[in-house]
Amino acid sequence: MSVAYDPNNIFGKILRSEIPAHKVYEDDVALAFMDIMPRAEGHVLVIPKEGARGLLDVSPQTLGELIKRVQHVARAVRTAFDADGLTLHQFNESAGGQVVYHLHFHLLPRWDGVALRPPGTMGDDAKLAAQAEKIRAAMTPFVG
Ligand code: AMP
Repeated sequence: MSVAYDPNNIFGKILRSEIPAHKVYEDDVALAFMDIMPRAEGHVLVIPKEGARGLLDVSPQTLGELIKRVQHVARAVRTAFDADGLTLHQFNESAGGQVVYHLHFHLLPRWDGVALRPPGTMGDDAKLAAQAEKIRAAMTPFVG
């Protein structure tokens, strides 16, 4: 059974600037910002502006445009943190590990021999701000 999108979720609030976020990229389709409980240095979330709960209800058109932004932001994250690799997470529904019900892609830069941190520990706000600045500095113009 599919569940309707509820705009009163935390990422909906970030989209409407009702709560703050350390933003690294924004255009008419997508917003990218630092994950508040980072599992790696430079852990970023990329979300669509379209109200979609997950992979299964987002419009194919938005999904196509969104994944281009995921790649775009991923390149900046890789450059900013000199990453050896990158892990992409995307969870759907509680059974799939989802906690916030607005579609999002996790970008997790990786380095050889460095494990992901366990989930659930708040990041230091000043550190997240500095990391966001570093990613913005590495961002090239988006070419659709
Ligand atoms: P999940 O739905 O399982 O992908 O988990 C939601 C993710 O959103 C977790 O990694 C949280 O750390 C992150 N998160 C929750 N609230 C915020 C927030 N206000 N700003 C940034 N990231 C958040």
